[in-house]
Amino acid sequence: MRYNVATRDWVVVAPERARRPEDFRATKPALTSDRPAHREDCPFCPGGEANTAGETLRFCDSEENWLVRAFPNRYPALTAEPEEGLARGGLFQRRRFGSGVHEVVAESRLHNMTLALQSEAEIELVLRAWQQRSQDLFKKRELEHLVVFKNHGVSAGSSLEHPHSQIIGLPVLPSSVRRRFDDAFRFFQKGKGCVFCEMLRAELDDGTRVVFETYGFVALVPFASDTPFTVWIVPKRHSHCFALSEQTQLSDLASVVKQVLARLYLGLRDPDYNLIVRSANPPGPGTHFFHWYITVVPRLSRMAGFELGTGMFIRSSLPEADAAYLRGLQLES
Ligand SMILES: [Zn+2]
Ligand SMILES: [Zn+2]
Repeated sequence: MRYNVATRDWVVVAPERARRPEDFRATKPALTSDRPAHREDCPFCPGGEANTAGETLRFCDSEENWLVRAFPNRYPALTAEPEEGLARGGLFQRRRFGSGVHEVVAESRLHNMTLALQSEAEIELVLRAWQQRSQDLFKKRELEHLVVFKNHGVSAGSSLEHPHSQIIGLPVLPSSVRRRFDDAFRFFQKGKGCVFCEMLRAELDDGTRVVFETYGFVALVPFASDTPFTVWIVPKRHSHCFALSEQTQLSDLASVVKQVLARLYLGLRDPDYNLIVRSANPPGPGTHFFHWYITVVPRLSRMAGFELGTGMFIRSSLPEADAAYLRGLQLES
C-alpha cells in the first residue's frame, strides 16, 4: 500500500496483477481516425455558431477565422439566472439560485482534431482561453470554486465528438476540494511548507517517476496515484492559482501538455482520458499552502465494489514502470 501525502489517500498497488505497459494500449482505433474534418450537424464546427449563442471569447487567425471560442453550455449543469436563495429544510437543504456558470471551449475548427495532435501554439491558445475565462468569471461572479476540465472519449464522459473542454463555476465548495485544501493547510501549519513543493523536490531527487521536465514544469506519475498512467503536470514555482500564470509560463505549459498527451496517445493508442486543472481561486483561500497542477487520468480501469465501498483504488501497474514506459517513447519532433 502506498500513501499520497498531498491527498492523504492510500492506494493498493498489486504487483501480481501488474500488467506490462503495452497491455494498457487501447484496442479501438484512435478517436479521430474515422471522423471527418467537418460535420454539418455538429454545433461546435464552423458554421454552427448560431447553435452556440452568447459567445464569451474568440481567438482568431489573421483572416478573422476563429481558432478557439468559448460560449455557454446549451445544456448547462448550472446557470446564472438569479432565483431565490438557500431553501432551508432541515436535512434536506437545496439551492435554487444560480451564481454558477457552465461554459464550453471549442479547441479547434477541425472536428477530427485532438489536443495530442495539435501544435504547441494551438494548445497555448486553448490554455489562454481557460485562463482568460477563469479570470473573467472570477471578476464577475461570486464563485466558491471553478474547475476547468476535459473529457476525451466516451468512457471519460464525453458526449460530443468535437474537441472541447469545459469550465464550471460553483456557488459551493465541493467536499473533495475542501479536503485537499484542508490537507495542504494542515501540512503547511506544521511548518513544513507547501506539500506540493516538497513532493516535487522529492520526486525530482528520486527521478524514477519523472516522465520529463522543462524550465518551469515537471510531468510525473505520482508515487501513490489511484489509477495506471495518471500523470501530474506541476509548476516548479509555487503558485496557488492557474489563472494567475504568466504568458511565458503558459507557452512552457503548452509544450508540456502537448508532450504528455502525445506520449499517452502514442504509448497507449489514444486512450480515453480526463484532464483536470486543480487550482484555488485567485483571491480565495489556499494562497500560501495550495499549489495548482494539472492531472491527466487515462480511463484504463473501472470503479468496482471495492472502490465504491472504500474510496480506495487497487492499481494494476507500478507508477515507476508507467513513468519509465512514457519516458522511453520516441516522439516525432
Ligand atoms: Zn465539429
Ligand atoms: Zn508549492
